Amino acid sequence: MEIDSDPREAIVRVMGLLYRRGLINIMGGNASIIDRDRGLVYISPSAVPKNLLEPGDIAVIDMDGNVVEGKPSSEYRLHLEVYRRIDSAEAVLHAHLPHAVLAGDLGLNLDPERYIESKYTVGKCVAIVERLPSGTKELAEATAQALHESGCKVAILLGHGAVAYSDKTIYNALDALEGLEFLSYIEYMKSLYHR
Ligand code: 13P
Ligand code: ZN
Repeated sequence: MEIDSDPREAIVRVMGLLYRRGLINIMGGNASIIDRDRGLVYISPSAVPKNLLEPGDIAVIDMDGNVVEGKPSSEYRLHLEVYRRIDSAEAVLHAHLPHAVLAGDLGLNLDPERYIESKYTVGKCVAIVERLPSGTKELAEATAQALHESGCKVAILLGHGAVAYSDKTIYNALDALEGLEFLSYIEYMKSLYHR
């Protein structure tokens, strides 16, 4: 099955899905796909309703952050830093997962091995990134470093949300974020019963 060979269409669709799943607020979150042959990154635009995007709204930047087209996400540094440090990364997604933020704040143990499917969605582990302001170089570097050093595909950004990268399609990054939200929800509910 060939889905969304056009990166602009894939980003539009994934941002709409994130919104409909309640995993981002209307202006929140961002998505990107890299074209390594051309050294270009397609990325969602900043501060616009993310469920109403059209392919023509998607911005394009080079690996130095220069704008080729459009108005890139304020988290463009984070996306670029993940692509720079992790050669296999093909797509990056950032969302505001409510239970993942809760689990991060509570310091819950999120072990994907505990659930049959979680290791296929989330991967082998969940990295934690300290609380840092949005859109900053510090957040970009801390996130890319945490993912690179841990070997995890997903990270919780404390007090903010989560990031996933995929070495396949952007839908695999979405699967990882949905899996992280599932894992966080289950562990949170369990913590209420002290199990
Ligand atoms: P952008 O709209 O600039 O992508 O920012 C949304 C966000 O979630 C910032 O962390
Ligand atoms: Zn955010």
